[in-house]
Amino acid sequence: MATQICPECKEDSFTWYIDDESLTHWECNSCSYHALENENDECICNRCGNKTKTKLKDFFKEYWWCSNCNTIGQ
Ligand SMILES: [Zn+2]
Ligand SMILES: [Zn+2]
Repeated sequence: MATQICPECKEDSFTWYIDDESLTHWECNSCSYHALENENDECICNRCGNKTKTKLKDFFKEYWWCSNCNTIGQ
């Protein structure tokens, strides 16, 4: 499985898995950062043009993140 750039520590060690309730979890193997993906909010990324921009939700915040070009925010 390809790893992504972690939004927290910027290491290339961010991976995902799907749990029993079909929720997508993102987890960093480097800093242990964890976030939940809201796939209902998937939309086109205005930087790379792919439909890979989703909302990630962690303990403190919720934000847009593109899993293709790793852009954070709007
Ligand atoms: Zn990390
Ligand atoms: Zn993108």
